[in-house]
Amino acid sequence: MKYYSTNKSVPKVSFEEAIVKGLPEDNGLFMPEKIVSLPQSFIDGLKGSSLQEIGYEVASRFIDNEIPEANLRTIVNDTLAFDIPAVRVEDNVYSLELFHGPTLAFKDVGARFLARCLSYFSAKKARKATILVATSGDTGSAVAHGFLGLENINVVILYPKGKVSDIQEKQLTTLGQNITALEVDGTFDDCQALVKKSFLDKPIKDKFHLTSANSINMARLIPQSFYYFWAYAQVKDGNRPVYISVPSGNYGNLTAGLLAQKMGLPIDRFIASANANDIVPAYLTSGVFDPKASVQTISNAMDVGNPSNFARMMDLFGGDVNEFRNYISGYSYSDEETRACMQAVFAKQGYMLDPHGAVGYLGLKEYMKDKDGVGVFFETAHPAKFGDVVEETIHTKIDIPARLQEYVDKTKVSIEINNSYEELLAVFGEVLV
Ligand SMILES: *Cc1c(COP(=O)(O)O)cnc(C)c1O
Repeated sequence: MKYYSTNKSVPKVSFEEAIVKGLPEDNGLFMPEKIVSLPQSFIDGLKGSSLQEIGYEVASRFIDNEIPEANLRTIVNDTLAFDIPAVRVEDNVYSLELFHGPTLAFKDVGARFLARCLSYFSAKKARKATILVATSGDTGSAVAHGFLGLENINVVILYPKGKVSDIQEKQLTTLGQNITALEVDGTFDDCQALVKKSFLDKPIKDKFHLTSANSINMARLIPQSFYYFWAYAQVKDGNRPVYISVPSGNYGNLTAGLLAQKMGLPIDRFIASANANDIVPAYLTSGVFDPKASVQTISNAMDVGNPSNFARMMDLFGGDVNEFRNYISGYSYSDEETRACMQAVFAKQGYMLDPHGAVGYLGLKEYMKDKDGVGVFFETAHPAKFGDVVEETIHTKIDIPARLQEYVDKTKVSIEINNSYEELLAVFGEVLV
């Protein structure tokens, strides 16, 4: 399978090149040349398929023979080594719990798949790559975890100082080994800008074999489409339409859903659920894409003012806002609304939402107000990951899962830098030797 750049001014590349490069030289994003439809028999048989079988069938359509079947099956099985249950919260409303992986957030899925694909390719080349990643919270720990201890790979994580939760920070800064955490005096968008700049700096990129692991990497998107098929199979009820609400920041997760739909999955409607960073819902209303500086919210993994994957969505919809509107509805919610939702759902259904899942639930309910279908919202993080916010909101103590408590007890190790490219390069010189 060949991949082109959404800016269309560089030649097409292989899957391997697309995921090793991360970002094309013309500053666009990679997209698959063809989105292959899956046979109707596959869609009809989804209810009887395992998540792993679905994963292999979907992944193979994006990779062709660049990874042999046996290796790809192993990569998919290792990626999906935990459950993704669809839990019924109330009539016709399901929570797809994407937080049962090692770092308790959905980004484990993409990060684990990318890590295993890259290590498959670098094992063939016997060279050392550097994974460079900006995180607003969860990407970094999921990526670091995915690559921890791999000898042919260094990981450098940039995160905004003071803008991630305590537990998130511990997960980024306590792993050691081949993982370096940089605490940047700035916002997530500043971190992302530094990462983009490094990738466009060819001498630096070549010297350190820089590779991206943000949601801009195609190998992060592909596995995120697996669980749309899986969710659909769990909740499908006769001929009733299925709606999926995705709490969104950089829009990688939602874009993966659009790929699944293009492959033939009959999702009736996607709901782009946002916090106060409402760039995409505002675009759906006004037709104007107007990126802004991000604002801080309690669902901080979605605090993104200039969502990268908008370029991919535009590409899929031919740049036409009306096409966009045919498939996606968008809503945004304040922190007050999010907290009220967490309280109400806990009181009424006894279901504990994290702030991101609450935004997804709100968007789903708003869309479903006058509709008779089945809805799924993505619960993208375990409530314990945002324990302070959840506990002070619902006044109930959360049991911290053992795999999270492990980090809390360890000591943070990070390197502080200003929001400057020169300081970033200085760190590269020190740690990437
Ligand atoms: C990253 C993240 C999101 C947003 O996902 P995107 O693919 O960036 O839109 C939502 N919730 C949580 C918990 C996250 O970590």
